[in-house]
Amino acid sequence: MIKVCVIEGDGIGKEVIPEAVKILKELGDFEIIKGEAGLECLKKYNNALPEDTIEKAKEADVILFGAITSPKPGTVKNYRSPIITLRKLFNLYANVRPINNFGLGHIIGKIADYEFLNIKNIDIVIIRENTEDLYVGREKLDKDTAIAERVITKKGCERIIKFAFEYAVKNNRKKVSCIHKANVLRITDGLFLEVFNTIKKTYENIIEADDYLVDATSMYLIKNPNMFDVIVTTNMFGDILSDEASALIGGLGLAPSANIGDNKALFEPVHGSAPDISGKGIANPMAAILSVAMLFDYIGEKEKGDIIREAVKYCLMNKRVTPDLGGCLKTKDVGDEILKYVRNKI
Ligand code: ATP
Ligand code: MG
Repeated sequence: MIKVCVIEGDGIGKEVIPEAVKILKELGDFEIIKGEAGLECLKKYNNALPEDTIEKAKEADVILFGAITSPKPGTVKNYRSPIITLRKLFNLYANVRPINNFGLGHIIGKIADYEFLNIKNIDIVIIRENTEDLYVGREKLDKDTAIAERVITKKGCERIIKFAFEYAVKNNRKKVSCIHKANVLRITDGLFLEVFNTIKKTYENIIEADDYLVDATSMYLIKNPNMFDVIVTTNMFGDILSDEASALIGGLGLAPSANIGDNKALFEPVHGSAPDISGKGIANPMAAILSVAMLFDYIGEKEKGDIIREAVKYCLMNKRVTPDLGGCLKTKDVGDEILKYVRNKI
């Protein structure tokens, strides 16, 4: 039986993950192991990621993660975000972030507060390197100068860029675009682009390849998002571009993600713990539930992932949505609607 370590975390993580688990259990037999992490956990055990949770995550085949609240800067010494630690610990080097509105751009454009964006039908995938770059945690203060090291390795570039091309092949995608700032970050992004230009040759007649500067990309994403298909980029750029791109599909409430390594994978909504809405029961659980769909894809049960995506599409079409998408349903109601749809399909 597949073991799933479930870490709800803080804030709306505790609200959306139970809905996602409901769908997970409905569609398969899993051994569920619950682990604690985050700010509440830090207050309770003086550790945001206790050894016990790490052990449970090690034991599990896959991890389902909610969101965590980071302590205010300067309040906790040597704080390292649990999610960054987990990505590093299990070498979850590929962060896959689909940006897809299920062909419902016209509907989402109306119900969400995004009318000004003239939302189109969008189906792109951002693949973000997940273990290097400015996230290596090498920051220091030297008198009045703050320094952060940006680490990009050839091995890190090779594995993420190969992953992106393989992903494109397996998922019938046509193009991979490398996003970088190699004109300024000549050595770090220079290496990323150089590796991209080498690897793309292997796929020459199968997958198209091009590259763009990150600043131009953030403009193109608004103006003409469908010029992209699969995007591969470094850690920080991927973080920023995927939040930007989520606005094109109706916000973070609809953006799932997978963190994939060679032996383990972690699934989580792209959003954070959203302290501004937590405790109100109005968080959109779709991003967490769509992350469960990605979990099914990963374990080779794509049909089940498709049923979940269909269920979400059904709710969007019928405006069975939370306030972020202009609806009046609660988190739990949306979870129940999706569950009902899924039950009728199996
Ligand atoms: P982090 O640093 O953890 O990424 P963040 O500061 O980026 O957190 P989020 O928690 O991702 O913040 O939230 C950003 C905004 O999006 C907030 O206004 C939040 O209320 C909204 N939001 C995020 N997730 C959801 C959701 N599932 N449903 C509704 N609104 C959401
Ligand atoms: Mg964020």
